Amino acid sequence: MKTLKVSIVTPDGPVFESDVEMISTKAQSGELGILPGHIPMVAPLEIGAVRLKNGGNTELVAVSGGFIEVRPEQVTILAQAAEKAESIDIQRAKEAKARAEDRMQAKKDDVDFQRAELALKRAMNRINVTSNK
Ligand code: ATP
Repeated sequence: MKTLKVSIVTPDGPVFESDVEMISTKAQSGELGILPGHIPMVAPLEIGAVRLKNGGNTELVAVSGGFIEVRPEQVTILAQAAEKAESIDIQRAKEAKARAEDRMQAKKDDVDFQRAELALKRAMNRINVTSNK
């Protein structure tokens, strides 16, 4: 099987670096499934899961937005935050979810609401990634 080199990088350093057979995730323009030899492109990502398939295994990484750069033999994801499923603190994500929901209920102004909505998306993404691992 042909493989692609995938790097997922955050300001704190690399989170994932490995060769995979397929990577799939959600860009703002829709679902992306990338195999070796894909045409070069750059796209903004949604807050979501990145699925990395190799040898019958699928690893999940929670990514908080950012960009994906695709080249035929290499994929790089640059994101503000990214966590492998096994390094997600589920309790912390549940607390962040509850805090965000409270803030959305309080509806002080649009800025607070949008910030809370993004925090809620990050928390729910982390919870989904841990429950699907
Ligand atoms: P919180 O309110 O719990 O900090 P957040 O969504 O505001 O959540 P971020 O700003 O996205 O957090 O991330 C800050 C740093 O903390 C990043 O390095 C991110 O990888 C890490 N992080 C956030 N939540 C978790 C979690 N539940 N488990 C592991 N690492 C986390």
